[in-house]
Amino acid sequence: MEDYLIRAITTNKEIRALAVNSTKTVEEARKIHETTPVATAALGRVMAGGLLMGSLVKSGEETILSIRGDGPIKKILVESNQKGEVRGYVANPKLPLKLTNNKKLDVASAVGKGELVVRKNYFMKEPYEGRVNLISGKIGDDLSYYFTKSEQKPSSVGVGVLVDKDQSVKAAGGFLIQLLPEASEDTIDKLENNISNINSLSHLIEEGRSPEDLLDILLKGFDYRVMAEKGVEYKCSCNREQVKGVMVSLGEDELKETLAEEGKVEIRCHFCNSKYEFNEEEVEKAIKNNDKTQEG
Ligand code: ZN
Repeated sequence: MEDYLIRAITTNKEIRALAVNSTKTVEEARKIHETTPVATAALGRVMAGGLLMGSLVKSGEETILSIRGDGPIKKILVESNQKGEVRGYVANPKLPLKLTNNKKLDVASAVGKGELVVRKNYFMKEPYEGRVNLISGKIGDDLSYYFTKSEQKPSSVGVGVLVDKDQSVKAAGGFLIQLLPEASEDTIDKLENNISNINSLSHLIEEGRSPEDLLDILLKGFDYRVMAEKGVEYKCSCNREQVKGVMVSLGEDELKETLAEEGKVEIRCHFCNSKYEFNEEEVEKAIKNNDKTQEG
């Protein structure tokens, strides 16, 4: 099954629901960053959240999720857009294996206590930024809390990643359920009951349940209409010009020092590990151009 996401609304207009299968996308991230299982799970959960959140913005807009905690993973950053493209990284991809009491990969202690920041870069509009403290570090709960508290949209988010014995990703995905303003008490009760029937999201995906199947479970007892379906993938948008900008920001002193030692400056993209090399002439020209823009 290829990775894809669906977005639906109940015909009574009380619930918005999204579900995504991101197994291949998270496996791609694992290969790029060579993450160990706990780091794969943490990054994969945030990526599923990013894809769900990213599909609620308009075309040309992007969503950036960043999590900073006092746990050993330190930082998780995920960028996504409305096209279903996602990229991300963790500060520490080589976490040792640690399991919770019920034998799950221990993402919460890898993340620790800290903050979730969501930034939305809008087209021709001031960016939006919302932040909440992490309530569990398990990501799903933290995203639910963010939507409810920061965006005032009561929501339930489930994200999960199942890692195989050979460390590859066996299943990954997520769901987002949002109550719309007309939601009745009866709807809320029914929905809570449905959500509690999902024990392990990643196991359902592993069994071959599609995003539609997940919505059938979550929206049991409601009629719904699928409004959009789209493929999702790991995609980095980095390019030479952009990376040149990052290089210049290292500062003239450091760049000259690197040039003196190595005869070139090498920059790696955090998101896809692509290597960009700049020779002496290019670096000097970039520094000079940067000076000019600062003067102007
Ligand atoms: Zn890149």
